[in-house]
Amino acid sequence: MRTSQFHLQTRKETPADAELVSHRLMIRTGMLSRLGSGLYTWTPLGLKVLRNVEKIIREEMDRTGCLEMIMPTIQPAELWQETQRWEKYGSLLLKIKDRAGRDFCYGPTHEEVITDFARKEIKSYKQLPITFYQIQSKFRDEIRPRFGVMRAREFLMKDAYSFHLSTDCLKETYATIHQTYCNIFERIGLTFRPVEADSGEIGGTGSHEFHALADSGEDAIAYSTESNYAANIEKCEVLAPTQSRKEATQELSIVDTPNKKSIQDVANFLSVSPKKLVKTLLVEGVDGPVALVLRGDHELNEIKANNLPQVASPFTMLDDEAIVKLAGCDAGSIGIKDLNCEIIIDRAVEIMSDFVTGANENDKHLTGVNWDRDAKFARVADLRNAKAGDKSPDGKGTIKIARGIEVGHIFQLGDTYTKSMNAVVLNEQGKAQTMTMGCYGIGVSRVVAAAIEQNHDEKGIVWPQQIAPFTVAILPMNMAKSERVKQVANDLYNELKQAGVAVIIDDRKIRPGVMFADAELIGTPHQITIGDRALDDGEVEYKSRKEMQNTRIKQADIISHLMGLLNS
Ligand code: ATP
Ligand code: MG
Repeated sequence: MRTSQFHLQTRKETPADAELVSHRLMIRTGMLSRLGSGLYTWTPLGLKVLRNVEKIIREEMDRTGCLEMIMPTIQPAELWQETQRWEKYGSLLLKIKDRAGRDFCYGPTHEEVITDFARKEIKSYKQLPITFYQIQSKFRDEIRPRFGVMRAREFLMKDAYSFHLSTDCLKETYATIHQTYCNIFERIGLTFRPVEADSGEIGGTGSHEFHALADSGEDAIAYSTESNYAANIEKCEVLAPTQSRKEATQELSIVDTPNKKSIQDVANFLSVSPKKLVKTLLVEGVDGPVALVLRGDHELNEIKANNLPQVASPFTMLDDEAIVKLAGCDAGSIGIKDLNCEIIIDRAVEIMSDFVTGANENDKHLTGVNWDRDAKFARVADLRNAKAGDKSPDGKGTIKIARGIEVGHIFQLGDTYTKSMNAVVLNEQGKAQTMTMGCYGIGVSRVVAAAIEQNHDEKGIVWPQQIAPFTVAILPMNMAKSERVKQVANDLYNELKQAGVAVIIDDRKIRPGVMFADAELIGTPHQITIGDRALDDGEVEYKSRKEMQNTRIKQADIISHLMGLLNS
């Protein structure tokens, strides 16, 4: 590519809302152009990267025998009504009407469409197992689109769906795709970790997320210092403490805590550690309100709470009015003594004694509270988020917390969709049997942003070679004035192009400083500067974008030098 014939629009300014470096750099390099909230145009520069990522994904999916197809982005409401997701999926679903007033949605995912396809096309066990995939735009009406394409409304996803006769067979394919995902993210050059995940809204049993590790990641992941255990924080089990509860030593007393509402305020006021406090959260239950009780310094894990059969779904906290009605006080003073509802306590709370709780009376707390003597609970559950230093749930080592960007997610769906949509095949005995199903997503456009989060410096992007828009940049100094520079640069350009290298030559009439700044910003991994001074010695200058060190190379050796680097 010749820069003069390309659309290279680098920018100095970045949008005020661009909090993440990847968002800023994608705008500054001109990879993206914003159309509206969560809507981006991929420019020719950006698209090159997106296509490189797609290519790796496609090659690896094909290699494992997955079959590519394309389904419509617009989906009829009837399919979503069959699975009840027309209502359940919530406001992320963009609903639209056609000219006849019929309901459709823009697909946020394709379980319904593929299951409809499968029930029409797959009739016999002999056609199973089979895995289909597509690489296609999805639309989710995100409540807070942000970070550019990291959380967009329209984005590119690779979604795959597998169909099976048995759960064992599903598990086998699941394991193969797990490995395929590792291969894909390795080839892309991401530092990543597969982690156990909650299967959440989409339903089913086993699930893993693939996280690109980055401090800016929206998700917290918990991993063991000594084993391969890694899980999304939402999923990471916190083991019951091994210590037993100490005997009560204090009398129950009621104390004034004027205007002290938060755990920290109450702890400071009473000069005790937040670890001696318990907090009581009131939520909607399936059978009246439920109190969830945690140690003062612990955080509630809403997913774990939501998974309890006693807690209503979706997870909803009681509003102020309902709290007053039940507890007789505001949220800051709720306590477990004489609370008239089901009380579920976290594992850490079970072993507490002589603790502090709200008194169910505004501006008052109880101290010296002890289980059995002063209050009773209905059950103990794992309710809190894991934190650094907890024991790893597999019993090996302790937990550390890292931040991650979810770039992929795989699920064993089981028969969640095939059952509600009646997707059956004839089994070996000639009987109709519901298929089991898996689904496997990669956020293709998010991968590009994640790669930038992991590969940049103060000058711009430092692309991993495999996904760089260009791998070699030729930067001729004063080409307009020096015939010799022009000749050498053009010869090198033609030779690299012939060899199939993604090369860009900066043939614009611009100052060298601007040329270098652009090459550094767009992050071309290998840069060759051609100038008269080095040519006098029969040499050119080579710079790797990563190391940023200039080295002189003999003219005759450039091609073999570059080829060596590109094939490494
Ligand atoms: P998140 O938790 O980030 O909202 P999700 O769990 O809802 O994502 P999935 O349904 O698992 O997303 O979709 C598969 C993949 O699509 C995700 O792993 C992610 O990489 C990508 N993805 C999901 N939502 C978006 C979005 N709004 N913008 C860009 N990529 C997205
Ligand atoms: Mg997900």
